[in-house]
Amino acid sequence: MSEKKIPRVSFPADVRPDTLAVREGLPATPWGENSEALFLTSSFVHPDAATAAARFANEEEAFVYTRFTNPTVMMMERRLAALEGTEACIAASSGMAAILLMVMGLLKAGDHIVCSQSVFGSTIKLLGGEFARFGIETTFVSQTDVAEWQRALRPNTKLLFAETPTNPLTEVCDIAALAGIAHAAGAWLAVDNCFCSPALQQPSKLGADLIIHSGTKYLDGQGRVIAGALCASEALVEGKFVPVMRSAGMSLSPFNAWVVLKGLETLAIRMEAQSARALQLATWLEQHPQVERVYYPGLASHPQHELAMRQQKGCGGAVLSFIVRGEAQGGPEHVRQKAFHVIDQTQICSITANLGDTKTTITHPSSTSHGRLTEPQRQAAGITQGLIRVAVGLEDVQDLIADLARGLDTLPA
Ligand SMILES: *Cc1c(COP(=O)(O)O)cnc(C)c1O
Repeated sequence: MSEKKIPRVSFPADVRPDTLAVREGLPATPWGENSEALFLTSSFVHPDAATAAARFANEEEAFVYTRFTNPTVMMMERRLAALEGTEACIAASSGMAAILLMVMGLLKAGDHIVCSQSVFGSTIKLLGGEFARFGIETTFVSQTDVAEWQRALRPNTKLLFAETPTNPLTEVCDIAALAGIAHAAGAWLAVDNCFCSPALQQPSKLGADLIIHSGTKYLDGQGRVIAGALCASEALVEGKFVPVMRSAGMSLSPFNAWVVLKGLETLAIRMEAQSARALQLATWLEQHPQVERVYYPGLASHPQHELAMRQQKGCGGAVLSFIVRGEAQGGPEHVRQKAFHVIDQTQICSITANLGDTKTTITHPSSTSHGRLTEPQRQAAGITQGLIRVAVGLEDVQDLIADLARGLDTLPA
């Protein structure tokens, strides 16, 4: 461990998350800037050869080379760790790169992962496809059935991987229960906290060992950059992940780190406001005669409503999905045309599969994000042709209701 450390911001004892979201980072430079500086530099200069040697030998903690150390990136890492309630955080170039870094740092050929079958599609491809080629096997299990996770454990299981709520059906898993079975089996629990962000859900408080973030979504919050991060104990970050970052280089650019750093300042108020709008929109959709079903954890009709309210500070989050009525009567092609009509009649929502933006986005999962699945796979996952996902932004909710009414109110009965 280094003897000389990079200084920390000094705070009164026990400042709260909203203060940390705005203030945690690094002390200002001698120039006294109030907004955090953007250090666009690939390397750092040492005062003399002996100091350079001490820094390269890790006897002195200092900035050396932006592939693994940069002040702007460190500010983002410290701030996100403070919000997640973990000792440390390491930034990565994307959410997928954070997962790559985690598996490279923790596992080896012969190890086994248990993962929810409802996680982000690229996560399924990375764990079940790419890593299988390197001898790491993954068993995919039900999102909500803890007994199925338990049954999937093997003596070589090292990692349980969960994501909650899921995209697009907002299924919620019990983080504390999964942490219990992971730890009893001597494995780690990783939680992809993309959908709630630390503003609504702190998996480390429920026993998760590793928290994955796509900074691309709510952390930036305005759809500008691709970014990722992995939060964990200092022992894991320093011992397992920094060495991989140093040699593998899935580094976050300082510019993108700066955008996310500033996004974190407004994260909590955005999440609360977007979640409140999503609840209003979901409540309106649920009573619409052309809507068969609404998936939203904030509704009492959601199968894991109580768990979600307990786990997510009483908020449903900003993503909801709904099924347009008519598959039973008209078949999948008929209801697909109805869903396309609803999407095409919108004048405000952006038609894009991205989420986590202040701009509301609308998408038809079965022909976009889940388009590569076969029809039976889609049916098994519940991604039917009538399903529409909305990631609610910060527009006036009455305008969003009117935007969806344009299509829903003009469907043939
Ligand atoms: C988008 C997303 C990712 C991947 O993040 P990128 O920044 O796009 O690499 C991972 N998990 C979830 C839940 C996501 O929504």
